[in-house]
Amino acid sequence: MAICGPGAQVVSTRVRFCINCKRRRRFYVSRSKELDYYGEYGTCLTCGEQYGGGEWLPRPFAPRWRVANVAKAKRKLLETRARL
Ligand SMILES: [Zn+2]
Repeated sequence: MAICGPGAQVVSTRVRFCINCKRRRRFYVSRSKELDYYGEYGTCLTCGEQYGGGEWLPRPFAPRWRVANVAKAKRKLLETRARL
């Protein structure tokens, strides 16, 4: 777990049930330090499905968005770890 930036965002990985994979997956999760679960944003590191504010986000109308989401989440995790 790491705290970064002036917004005191907490970035971590969590295991959550993914509605797309239909099983528990590891998620990249970011949230504001003050907020509870409903202020949490997550990306499935397997398929790229995203949720935020306690709901699953609409799927973007873009080619390869799942691949792009996973790549972005993994890059953020690496950046976070590099700062530790
Ligand atoms: Zn998934």
